[in-house]
Amino acid sequence: MQDKDLERYSRHILLPEIEFEGQKKLLQSHCLIIGAGGLGSPVAIYLAASGIGKITICDFDDVDLSNLQRQIVHNEKSIGKNKAESAKVTISKINSDIKVRSIKNQLNLEEVKVIAKEVDIILDCSDNFETRYALNKIAYDLKLPLVSGAAIKFDGQVSVFDFRAKTSPCYNCLFPSADEEQNLKCSDHGVFSPLVGLVGSIQAGEAIKVLLNIGTSLTGKLLLINHKDTNFKTLKIQKDNLCDICS
Ligand SMILES: [Zn+2]
Repeated sequence: MQDKDLERYSRHILLPEIEFEGQKKLLQSHCLIIGAGGLGSPVAIYLAASGIGKITICDFDDVDLSNLQRQIVHNEKSIGKNKAESAKVTISKINSDIKVRSIKNQLNLEEVKVIAKEVDIILDCSDNFETRYALNKIAYDLKLPLVSGAAIKFDGQVSVFDFRAKTSPCYNCLFPSADEEQNLKCSDHGVFSPLVGLVGSIQAGEAIKVLLNIGTSLTGKLLLINHKDTNFKTLKIQKDNLCDICS
């Protein structure tokens, strides 16, 4: 680590849970962020600022005016540009020392798996069940930790599935099937702007904690957030012994 890194990351290095060795490990870590929208925005910003050495961010969508209410990694100049590329521009300005790769194509399962083989952790910042199930399968197959987040209206959820441990439940244990009714979209139902910041910030924090083995993570647990009444509730996720994916 160079002198300027010691200064940049000094407030992390001062934490006994991180110190020099922990920060060095973050600089050597590679995070895969799927989705550069409401959740992917704070995730990308905090991981870049925290000094995650390599970030790969995927999104095939373009920035729209209606995204700016909550997708804080983008700005008015990003409208019409690809979200992954726009996120790369923003976070590279926050931290030009890290390597950021943006992927703007719509990927199939096999293509995501090839990319995921090179990373240490996956952050699911997508907005649909199809992607969530696909990332769950990929993380399970590759024995990678997966930090999953979701937000709609005033309600948010965060879970961590750490497939480095055989006993870990998976996303499919939690939600064995998703019908169309569950697949709520922000475009139809609305989403409270600071809620996605809250959920995404917790996802970024959980990812760093898992990478450095700090404290107690949300591994095997589901955090439920209701921002309208500001309630937080944590439930334990049971491993389903009949799960199609992990059993
Ligand atoms: Zn399972």
